[in-house]
Amino acid sequence: MMRKIFFLSGIFFLVSLPVFALNLDKLSDDDIQMIKRMIPKLQLLIKAKEADSTIPTLTFDELYAPLDSNEQKFIKQFQKIKGKKAGIKIPWRGMSESVKLLVAIRDQRVQEKVKVTENGVTREEIKERTLPKQFLPLPVYQKYNEMMEAMEKDIGRRLLVDSGYRSSAFQLYLFVYYLQNHGYSIRETVKFVTLPGYSEHGDPKHQAIDFINKEGINGDPNVKEFEVLPENQWLLENARRFGFILSYPKNNLRGITYEPWHWRYDPKAAEKETKKRRKGKSRRSVPGMTPSQDKKHESLH
Ligand SMILES: [Zn+2]
Repeated sequence: MMRKIFFLSGIFFLVSLPVFALNLDKLSDDDIQMIKRMIPKLQLLIKAKEADSTIPTLTFDELYAPLDSNEQKFIKQFQKIKGKKAGIKIPWRGMSESVKLLVAIRDQRVQEKVKVTENGVTREEIKERTLPKQFLPLPVYQKYNEMMEAMEKDIGRRLLVDSGYRSSAFQLYLFVYYLQNHGYSIRETVKFVTLPGYSEHGDPKHQAIDFINKEGINGDPNVKEFEVLPENQWLLENARRFGFILSYPKNNLRGITYEPWHWRYDPKAAEKETKKRRKGKSRRSVPGMTPSQDKKHESLH
């Protein structure tokens, strides 16, 4: 009798393990094949959502709809990965689904320098481009606007929203899509694209905004270009007053590369940071301390 029970539990163990475990270092060949079958189906959906500019609001039901039951089971496993085990150092933000009072931001225009080659001669031209529609939760949108009005008054410039709210379902799609660029390793991919539930873009309570200026400078691919903008300098000095805080300063402990354009609305953290700076300044004022040295200090906490 004992032997029989042992035998049965052994079978259960063998059957259940491969179905549920994703190898975080490198996906199995079967899993890779599954992803290769899924991506073209999902891309049709993504293209349709892109066409009507509603992609940041993609829901899980919409994402699962084109997939068969095995594919659905498979993709749902990514929602259950424990971030820490995969090497994610940012805190769990929670899965977002339908956010109430999402404001659509339309008709944001940038005037970008583009290189045009004609008859073998390359010259620079200014071209206007309309950014894809972006979304922000209403209270964050209002604060963003308030902050931009103050910036315009001070330096005659404004920043636009390059990326605002992004649902957890869209984050899941991005993650699965980008696995191919990182050898189908979950651990490698999280260094570039975070798992759903860990993105500040999908956390309406601490909503992140990626900024772009009116000349189309968003730090991609040249971080320095964004860093030296007067708009960025203004943010470093003033954004905290409006409840915005820089999430990933230089040498941050979250293991995320420096992102001077990514600010999150987090009034409590912004207030704490202001108090900390005031204290630091009155206790020991360091002559010539640059904002970037100051940020290093911030990242230790
Ligand atoms: Zn961002």
